[in-house]
Amino acid sequence: MKLTVLGAGRCVTGSKYLLEWKRFAAMVDCGLFQGPAENRRRNWKPFPFPAYRLGAVVLTHAHIDHTGYLPRLVRQGFSRPAYCTPPTAALLRVLLPDAAHLQEEEARYANKEGYSKHRPALPLFRMADAKAALKLLEPVPFGRWIELHPGVRFRFHRQGHILGAAAVELETKVSGGKRKTIYFSGDVGRYGVPILKEPESYPGSDVLLVETTYGDRLHAPDDPHDVLAEEIRRIIKNRGVLLIPAFAVDRTQEILYLINDLVEDGDVPAVPIYLDSPMAIQATALYSRFTSEHDVEMKELYSEQINPIFPPTLTPTPTTSDSKRLNRLDGPAIIISASGMCTGGRILHHLKLRLPDPSNTVLFVGYQAEGTKGRRLVEGEQEIKIHGQWVPVRARIAQMSSLSAHADREELELWLSRREREPEKVVLIHGEYGAQQAFAARLEEAFGWKPVIPEIGDAFEL
Ligand SMILES: [Zn+2]
Repeated sequence: MKLTVLGAGRCVTGSKYLLEWKRFAAMVDCGLFQGPAENRRRNWKPFPFPAYRLGAVVLTHAHIDHTGYLPRLVRQGFSRPAYCTPPTAALLRVLLPDAAHLQEEEARYANKEGYSKHRPALPLFRMADAKAALKLLEPVPFGRWIELHPGVRFRFHRQGHILGAAAVELETKVSGGKRKTIYFSGDVGRYGVPILKEPESYPGSDVLLVETTYGDRLHAPDDPHDVLAEEIRRIIKNRGVLLIPAFAVDRTQEILYLINDLVEDGDVPAVPIYLDSPMAIQATALYSRFTSEHDVEMKELYSEQINPIFPPTLTPTPTTSDSKRLNRLDGPAIIISASGMCTGGRILHHLKLRLPDPSNTVLFVGYQAEGTKGRRLVEGEQEIKIHGQWVPVRARIAQMSSLSAHADREELELWLSRREREPEKVVLIHGEYGAQQAFAARLEEAFGWKPVIPEIGDAFEL
């Protein structure tokens, strides 16, 4: 069997791993490259294997950097099952159409402004491709073995990273009736965070592919409760608005849980909360609905009357007119809106209105990539351009850096440490090269492993 790394080699996006046997081929993850233009250009390269010959795709979780290439693959002739867990399928029904919409919007905008070198600028895929991709989704519960081909089977293990996230254990028959197992970590979740069950530890395998996003770092130790409580007290005192640019999946639900926790414990008084992102509203409903994924505390709290990620003062504002009504809102109030890095979406309208007023606060709760408006605000810019208009920044800009859906270095080690046998081959994926080198050194020191760090295009005979 041959394994080819088609993405997330010495970088963190575009996860795609091609597996080829004599008469069969499959892919684990089918992600888009994201971020700077030189990354995104990779999405346009011809796919290095005939898409129609792929027998299956297995998806670890719903994030677009693990799934967003599926519509493009379908466009190129892929028509076989795309296996994922049931919550991942449900999330993808929200995320893939949104990704297609963004692609179409971007192409339309590029054609209007004439900034693309390509004429006409085309979307990577269209809504019809996303809908065709959704038809191929084959939900499979955690733990159930699925035969992909005679002698090749796989199952999902819970990974706690976002709702539905899984690791993939793939088993293949080799000569002499023996079996070989390959373990794909997917994105590893964290221990001791609210809402979702913890990751299932790595059990051991012949080959291991493990993510390394935070392979050289530890998460900030500050308690997110304290940061959030302080900001809520401040806007109550100032009668201001606390604006939280949030990622729709996972981070939003975590913030809602934290706010509910603070109010329940009497740390802060209840204030009106508005959830102003159609995608975040749908994701929150899915996080509520899949009770099988809730951890012990969430299970204990959750009932038909009480939902810790839907506090009593929460009002979802799904429609544009609901959202516009928030412009007349007086504080104190909390508005949670997307996108998390302020690259687009409804948050821009709120920023335009709320940034000039010093009684308001903008609280960033996630990573802000270079080149985004979020990053500029965090770096203290005094003025920012929104929809072609300069807006003075007089509101307080605050940041909470301890929330993350990824295991840090220590958590990755913990996840790996409970194994029952040693891997023969360890492949580091999904990380910047520096972080991977540091993590490789750490693994050698701690476990005596000698991991390889492939580049995109590298292949292994297994
Ligand atoms: Zn992810």
